[in-house]
Order: sequence, then structure tokens, then C-alpha cells
Amino acid sequence: MNPVLTIDLNAICANWRSLDQASRAECGAVVKANAYGLGAAQVARALATEGARKFFVVLASEAAALRPHLPENAEIWVFSGYMPGDAADFKASGARPLLNSPAQLAAFRKDFPDAPYGLDIDSGMARLGFEPAALASLAFASPPLRPALLTSHLACADTPGHAMNATQLASFSLLTAAMPMVPKSLAASAGIALGAAFHFDVLRPGIALYTGDFAGGTLPVQAELPIIQTRQLLPGQPVGYGAIWAASRPSRIATLAGGYADGVFRSLKGLNLYCGRTPCPVVGRISMDLIGVDITDLGEIPDSLTLIGPQQSPGDIAALAGTISYEVLTALGARYNRVYRGAKG
Ligand SMILES: *Cc1c(COP(=O)(O)O)cnc(C)c1O
Repeated sequence: MNPVLTIDLNAICANWRSLDQASRAECGAVVKANAYGLGAAQVARALATEGARKFFVVLASEAAALRPHLPENAEIWVFSGYMPGDAADFKASGARPLLNSPAQLAAFRKDFPDAPYGLDIDSGMARLGFEPAALASLAFASPPLRPALLTSHLACADTPGHAMNATQLASFSLLTAAMPMVPKSLAASAGIALGAAFHFDVLRPGIALYTGDFAGGTLPVQAELPIIQTRQLLPGQPVGYGAIWAASRPSRIATLAGGYADGVFRSLKGLNLYCGRTPCPVVGRISMDLIGVDITDLGEIPDSLTLIGPQQSPGDIAALAGTISYEVLTALGARYNRVYRGAKG
């Protein structure tokens, strides 16, 4: 019996719809990294049925894998732009690169003279995109440029009061002022929450779709780890590698099929799994494939315990691990049976 990840596609669609309806901008969907581990093909198909037409990935290979699952008129945009070795994937997918440099632009126009593309602009994050001087030099390009989308990315959107937000907003507005007719996109999930000034024409939410972490959102994911066997321990008996924990009372310990290879980080301290509303503490070291959980206080031994669900969000686990919900979701790994609810189309 594998661990099970239940993914509610209707809830992901509802999250997308709330973001779409709350803004004048068109809402796209970021489905990179296998839709943050939830399944890019299933998620993108459901969102396309819901009306999404702009999908974003990082790699050309992700675009090629996604193409067969989307309707003809859905656009796939590639954040890494155009890299050596990407030609076949762009040819197969008809994806659109978000070009990051004059060299990428030249290479793409040479290989695909008539294909649509966008430009990513570095408005201050210093990660990807045209630097201001390189962008300025494009004003003299021949033939003239006709990008289909202009994007940039915010470095500090998760901190609403951060001065970088206003600085990058001003910089993006200024750097794109010469191309008023081209659609623009600045906001990912946290940027959307900064308000309409950051929305421009296209929204690029990822995590908000997958955690529902915004006003009116719903968590669409549940992770269950099956119990393989249980043990009755006497006080003083240790559990697991290093014998770092020992029972302080007569205890029933369940051994579950799930460990750090399944996204239960070894560094987690104070993690509970849940049987309904009852928290059951993880005890002893977290191994690669197994964890021990104290179920002494449960009346009956269940088949499985809940790692992620209404009782405990990816953000809650992230807080215990000193990381962010993105890393919790993308670390869940390939051993979960991914079960989809509410699949349409
Ligand atoms: C990952 C990513 C997004 C989506 O970010 P979320 O915070 O998950 O909404 C948007 N734009 C770019 C450039 C990204 O890399």
C-alpha cells in the first residue's frame, strides 16, 4: 500500500476562478515542477476546462510533455526562455519562450522566425530577464520586435510592506512604457495579493492554486500515510535510528510507510499526524521510508494517518521545518498514489 495524495481538481479550479474573477486581468496558471508535485497534466487539463488559456512552465521539456493535454488554443509559456538543445521541444509543443537575453532572442528568431515569443525583464530581482540596458538596445532591432507578452517577477511580494515592491512596480512600468500595446504580467500569487496596481494584463499564480492560501481559497490536497504495523512498548523502550526517543509510558507506536523520501523532512521537529481531529506525535528519527507515530491515545488502530489535510496545511508543516509550503509540496515525491477527485473533461 503506497502513501496516497488526494488532489481535488474542483478545488484547484475554484481557487483559479476566485483569482480570475477578482481581477480585470486574465488569470493564467503556473504548472511548473509537475504542478508543484500535484500532476501537471491533470491540473492543466482541469484548468483548461475551467477556461484557463495561459500556462507557465520553466523548461521546454515540461512544455512538450504538457502539450498533448491542452486544447489547441491554450498557450504554454516557458520561463527559461530558449536554451541550447530546446529546439525540438519548442517545435513539438509550439510553446512560447519568455526570452531572457539578447542572445536568447537572436537564437529563437533565427530558429523560429515566425513564432510568437515574450520577453522577461529584470525589474530588480537579478535572476532572469533582460537587463534595462539590453532592453533599451532592442528599440533599434530590425525587423522590429513584436513580443506577445512582457513579464517580470517580484522578489519580495510575500512581504507587502517591502520597499522592493514599489521599486519593481515602477521599474517594470517604466521599462515597458515603450510597448504600450503588448500585454504585461508581473504578479505571481503573492503579487496578486498586493493589489490591482500589480495585476497588469495577466496573472501568474502557482502556489495559491495548490494551497488555497488566500482569502476565499480552499486546500485541494490531502496526504495519507498507511500504517504498516504497530508495536506495544514498555516505558524506556526506544524507537528508530539513534534511539533518540524512548517511551515514557506504556505506548502503542505505529510504523508508517512514509519518510524523508516522501517529503517528511528529517529535520522536522514536533510534527503530528492526524487521525480525524486527534493529533498523534511523530516519535524517534524520521527515516527515508518510515516514521514512528505514537497512537497510544487512539481508541482503534486506523489504516492510515493524515499528514496534509484540513488539520495541517503545507504551510503548517513548512513552519515546523523552517521552509515554505512550495518546498513541502514539491518534495512529496513519486511514491504517492495520486488520486484525482472531480476530474472533468
Ligand atoms: C514560480 C513562478 C510563478 C508562480 O509563483 P507562485 O508564488 O507559486 O504563485 C510566477 N512567475 C514566475 C516567473 C515563477 O518562477
